[in-house]
Amino acid sequence: MFLVIEGHSFAYEMESLCRIFFPQKKIKVLKNNFESLQDDFVLCKMLELEHEYKIWVSAAIDSKKAKSVEKVFKSESMQEAECELKMAQALFKVLSELTAYRPPWGILTGVRPAKLMLKLIEELGPKGAEAYFRDHLLVKEDKTALAQEVALSESSLIKKIDKKAFSLYVAIPFCPSRCGYCSFVSHSIAGPKAKKSVEIYIENLIEELEYLGKTACALGMKAQSVYFGGGTPTSLSANQLEKLFSTLEASFDLSQVKEYSVEAGRPETIDQEKLNLFKKYEVDRISINPQSFNDKVLQDVKRGHTADSTLAAYSLARKVGFKTINMDLIAGLPGDSIESFERSVEQTLALEPENITIHTLALKRAADMQAKEFVGAKSENVSQMLNTAYGKLRGKSYLPYYMYRQSLTLGNLENTGWSKEGHECLYNIIMMEECQSVFAAGAGAVTKLIKPEKKGLERVFNFKYPYEYNSRFSEILKRKDEIIRFFESA
Ligand code: SF4
Repeated sequence: MFLVIEGHSFAYEMESLCRIFFPQKKIKVLKNNFESLQDDFVLCKMLELEHEYKIWVSAAIDSKKAKSVEKVFKSESMQEAECELKMAQALFKVLSELTAYRPPWGILTGVRPAKLMLKLIEELGPKGAEAYFRDHLLVKEDKTALAQEVALSESSLIKKIDKKAFSLYVAIPFCPSRCGYCSFVSHSIAGPKAKKSVEIYIENLIEELEYLGKTACALGMKAQSVYFGGGTPTSLSANQLEKLFSTLEASFDLSQVKEYSVEAGRPETIDQEKLNLFKKYEVDRISINPQSFNDKVLQDVKRGHTADSTLAAYSLARKVGFKTINMDLIAGLPGDSIESFERSVEQTLALEPENITIHTLALKRAADMQAKEFVGAKSENVSQMLNTAYGKLRGKSYLPYYMYRQSLTLGNLENTGWSKEGHECLYNIIMMEECQSVFAAGAGAVTKLIKPEKKGLERVFNFKYPYEYNSRFSEILKRKDEIIRFFESA
């Protein structure tokens, strides 16, 4: 399908909105196109007249046609933002009419609805923010209420975050095998070639952590949280993990650490030895991710474990004494039904983990399994799965405390973290609200630098793939010098 852009610079925003309605279509953006298009096109045009801007959106998709014309009167301020908003609203109206589908998050394409909600609450108050979401961004009532609930929860948790401290993120982009739906940079750890590159990776990672530790000491900064993410950090051996934990202990001042998390996502990677090691190094939060308790679904998405192995890993972790465990579920996995997803939610709740994260499946190009293979996961079904899950979570006293959105999720729906009171993960809030510096090590890791008294942040990127990280490692350390420069500058 063609998206024709004329007379304005909102191509990216309009394309993002078109993708919500047509996730499976290839969209080709044409700027100032003069050919006459008959079908499968959307035209977003803006004309500047003497006293106003005229916004014209028309579309012809699958032989159906619709159009909308809006006006924005010229004034001294904010014309561009207002024109963009009006154009998005007009496009939303046209595409909703053509497809008979009204996306729940309206024209909101950003990844952090709660962050935006919090900003609006500060500017307009809770009622004004709610009205803006509903009337201007065209977000449905239930999603508006969810965004507001999460925003208010985040704002109370932010108070616990020490803006002068930092969080430490350690990236382990390896997994025991690759799940069919995975779009992360994560490599299978199986095979002799992978094993060798993992060994080199760990040596480099240790060096990077030591370098970061020296940097933090030179700046007099202490870690408030530590997060091992992935991939699946527990796909490393106990010996490899111990090398990393002991490096952290020797290189950083961990005396102020409030939470120490390790993603142990794939249950088959968890064993007694690794759990004992976590205890030894005071890791106090882990995630064990069932994604589904339906073995057929797990097998179809090449998840590499069964419902029973999730139960076994969970029970072992409790026996070893873990008090905060997160479990992830995914709504919309191929072959899953509303009933089967509901059973997965019930089985998860029966285990009483402190955190449950409900994800919506995203159909990204980087996944091995392509969109056409995902059958049966219709948007309406996924929406119902989420609503059912949310109702059950509330019934067991879990509350939503962070959320984010990804592109290309089924039904353009959200991912939401739920917690029992007092078990919320601060690191998740830090990531969503960008309210504390994050020193990040490993492939694909992004260091975020924030000064407590200043707005804005700077990012320092590591190479994305492990092979680049290994082969260009000397550049990684040079880039880290940016941290000192940032904090020592006025
Ligand atoms: S465990 Fe997670 S990161 Fe690893 S392959 Fe599966 S989805 Fe990707």
